[in-house]
Amino acid sequence: MMAYGIDMTREALLNRLENQLSESRFIHVLNVEKTARDLANHYGEDPEKAALAGLLHDYAKEFPDSVFLDVIARHHLDADLKNWGNNIWHGVLGVYLLQEDLGLNDVEILQAIERHTVGSAQMTTLDKIVYLADYIEPERNFPGVERARELAFSNLDKAVAFATANTISHLVAKAMPIFPKTLETYNAYIMTLKEDKA
Ligand code: GDP
Ligand code: FE
Ligand code: FE
Repeated sequence: MMAYGIDMTREALLNRLENQLSESRFIHVLNVEKTARDLANHYGEDPEKAALAGLLHDYAKEFPDSVFLDVIARHHLDADLKNWGNNIWHGVLGVYLLQEDLGLNDVEILQAIERHTVGSAQMTTLDKIVYLADYIEPERNFPGVERARELAFSNLDKAVAFATANTISHLVAKAMPIFPKTLETYNAYIMTLKEDKA
């Protein structure tokens, strides 16, 4: 039986994820589960909590847009959210679906999942662990991922800054809009990259 409000065995939960995710994304969430557990052990955070957040972070990634538009309507959320898309919705709104569908009720896990794509100006250690585990899991392969892996295990704030700056560069290069929270994360952490500790 899982904890944190989830009334399912791990086996049943894995079956559900495998059914609602593509094969490559199912592998990704298992990798993020493991990387989040490793980071939590490294930083003295609760490894089981980090692992579950990692396992569930992309729960809503393959849901159709209609599901998210329905969440915005049912929960009377800011209408501006309708202007974004799955990349933003699957985390920011995915937490409503995790509560409704699975009963997940741990506020720290829910917050880390809510923030996993866009971050926040004031992230908890668990938030940073999930944000970075998603970015550096073993299947990730892009210029800079090795540096992100080193930073993730040496300085969480610098790693968040590095990952957010890279994500923004990538979005700018593709002429994509930047979600305001992503810019808040960038502004809150970027100066740490100029400090010389670790
Ligand atoms: P994934 O779900 O494992 O693929 O990873 P993420 O949840 O971190 O990111 C999902 C996608 O959202 C990626 O393609 C990011 O580049 C993109 N993304 C991250 N921040 C923003 C943002 O501020 N605006 C937009 N438009 N996309 C973003
Ligand atoms: Fe995601
Ligand atoms: Fe992910």
